[in-house]
Amino acid sequence: MPVRATKRGAERTPLDADVDVLICGASFAGLAAARELAGSGARVMVIDRYEIGERQTSACAAPTLWLTNLGLESTIRQTFGDLVVHTSRSTIRYHLPWTFSTFDYPALCAALAGQGDFAFDTAKVESITRGETHTVHTDRGDLRAPLVVDALGWRRVLGRDLRIQPPDARLSRGLEVHPEGTGRDMELWIDGRVIRAGYGWSFPAADEVRVGVGSFDPHDHVKQPTVDLATELNRPLNGYQGNWIPHQLRPAVSEDVFFAGDSAGHCLPLTAEGIRTAFYFGLAAGRELRAVVEGRQTRAQALARYGAFSDSHARAYRWLLRMQHLVGPLNDRPPLVDRIMRAVDRQWWIDRFFNRYLAVAPPEFVFAAGAPRRGGRPAAAAAA
Ligand SMILES: Cc1cc2nc3c(=O)[nH]c(=O)nc-3n(C[C@H](O)[C@H](O)[C@H](O)COP(=O)(O)OP(=O)(O)OC[C@H]3O[C@@H](n4cnc5c(N)ncnc54)[C@H](O)[C@@H]3O)c2cc1C
Repeated sequence: MPVRATKRGAERTPLDADVDVLICGASFAGLAAARELAGSGARVMVIDRYEIGERQTSACAAPTLWLTNLGLESTIRQTFGDLVVHTSRSTIRYHLPWTFSTFDYPALCAALAGQGDFAFDTAKVESITRGETHTVHTDRGDLRAPLVVDALGWRRVLGRDLRIQPPDARLSRGLEVHPEGTGRDMELWIDGRVIRAGYGWSFPAADEVRVGVGSFDPHDHVKQPTVDLATELNRPLNGYQGNWIPHQLRPAVSEDVFFAGDSAGHCLPLTAEGIRTAFYFGLAAGRELRAVVEGRQTRAQALARYGAFSDSHARAYRWLLRMQHLVGPLNDRPPLVDRIMRAVDRQWWIDRFFNRYLAVAPPEFVFAAGAPRRGGRPAAAAAA
């Protein structure tokens, strides 16, 4: 049983506050946005239904450069230079042009939060009344701020503009166990026997191994496939964690609210890699907010610039989504999957694909000076 650190009973006193920036969601996107406001002098508040780092829902693997550039290297558990892919017929080892690392979620959240300068409290966000100053309604009372970020994940709690309920919405689903154990490789299964429209994974993290299955089709259940894969790998079925994952971009601004991370559909289709993009768009939103609190632009300008920045990535997301749509039909033809995975096993092709993939949300963005250009990639991203 996870230890519940969230305030309960008498500790849940009423909340009532006026701040300059209210960031709802204290995971990757929310904490990245908060970090960019440190030292701005703004009264920043972050709220989450759980304590910071209390509730992990992901396998927590990200490009190492994102972690080191953010100064989070102390949270790394294991680093991988290769990606081992299993099809129904063979196993192929791709040597990546850059590395992935698994990290410790509570430690990362604590370290990222430590780079910010904000008040934090636990509360369940329920709704918003919009205005020049927004009022965010929580289960502990109302919080008011002119600048509000929804970094609450796939539910997009503060958006009324989209139908996001599964299984009809554009969502993937993922479930994993994380038993104690060790492993050498970061492994994927692209094999219809594991899951048709999706993939399985095993990501070692020093003393535990995160084994799971994701499906791009929200109608397909992932519990039994996860049990089957873990059992086949002789991993105990300990520590289930799972979630829905949006696989299509959603509007990053709506009715004067900023959305970052999964709430804006920023998780990448095909790979369901959403941590680095939550950092990336969280930083971008935080920079725009900082320009507002420092009097360099209005809220309306910040919303327009951030919305355009997010939209400027639509092409890359569309491409990945197209490839994602091919996974199920390809898994119906195992020999073809195997042929394709072998055909792309050329170092120049691997380097080109993975470098372009990294450039969708490049780690240099951590150091990008100023806010992103309207409608375009920031200078560092364009150069990557
Ligand atoms: C099983 C699984 C494995 C994954 N593995 C990886 C991986 O290895 N690498 C990778 O890059 N991506 C992975 N992903 C995707 C990744 O986890 C998400 O894309 C990422 O977490 C999005 O970050 P976020 O900050 O936008 O949202 P989240 O991490 O979902 O954070 C949302 C925050 O909002 C809080 N919250 C939600 N609702 C409320 C509310 N009403 N009131 C108050 N607080 C609320 C939550 O407690 C949480 O802290 C995985 C996903 C799943 C399901």
